[in-house]
Amino acid sequence: MPQQPHQHELLSSSPDLSHTALQSSCEECFGLCCAALPFAASSDFAIHKNAGQPCPNLRSDFRCGIHTELRSKGFRGCTVYECFGAGPKVSHVTFGGQDWRQAPHTASQMFEVFPVMRHLHELLRYLTEALSLQSAATIHSQLRSLLEETERLTLLPPEALLQVDVPAHRGEINELLLRTSELAREAARRQLKNAPKRPKNYGRGADLIGAKLKKADLRCVSLRGAYLIAADLSGADLREADLIGADFRDTNLCGADLTDTLFLTQSQLNAAKGDASTKLPAALTYPAHWTGL
Ligand code: SF4
Repeated sequence: MPQQPHQHELLSSSPDLSHTALQSSCEECFGLCCAALPFAASSDFAIHKNAGQPCPNLRSDFRCGIHTELRSKGFRGCTVYECFGAGPKVSHVTFGGQDWRQAPHTASQMFEVFPVMRHLHELLRYLTEALSLQSAATIHSQLRSLLEETERLTLLPPEALLQVDVPAHRGEINELLLRTSELAREAARRQLKNAPKRPKNYGRGADLIGAKLKKADLRCVSLRGAYLIAADLSGADLREADLIGADFRDTNLCGADLTDTLFLTQSQLNAAKGDASTKLPAALTYPAHWTGL
């Protein structure tokens, strides 16, 4: 939601949004996450709102009226949301730059398309990272083919986008991402000094809520989809660990080493706690609420 530092490196000033821009860029979006998505009053959201109902804090220019106070006003959930560039794509490509306030008859379809596009852009984000890994070179052609197919889907008109079988497409891509992870972690294990001989595979969705993993050697492990809510990973070594979809809400990452982790996103970091001594992958930035920055 419109709180992220605006990241223009993937969007030019006259954006070619028909191609891949894979990070939130709120100034290029018609506030879609703030209107299309539902949220329930909780520790993450101060209010309840239904899908398709614009948040009362969304201004007429599609910017957030409490952008600098989201956490103090109880909208922490907005600070951890990432659309992977789906909002700008829907706004300027799928709907050609015509917003839902100017053209209210498009609103419901635009709001339905947004979550579909978000899924596709998230997949593009992971495929792009997989293609950057030399250790996965043997499957680059398959990865590239799925990247091109996913990009093609993102350019479909709204009616066709709503017919995309996202779970099936995601399943196909996930197989390749799993293989990418295995190849990358195996190659890293051979290179890292004293790396664990058999890095633990915690299994998808492992329950590590509140786990005490301070200073743990987690190099090259798989933490795919693990629930690490409020876990203590302070000082842990997570280099080359697969962190795709891991739930980092309130996870203590102070002093942890996350360089060269696989499939870590900015929204995961934004949900966690950390400090200036946490080491990050080069493509990610320190969340504003972390300490000692
Ligand atoms: S408070 Fe409302 S307008 Fe602001 S980022 Fe959250 S959902 Fe969007």
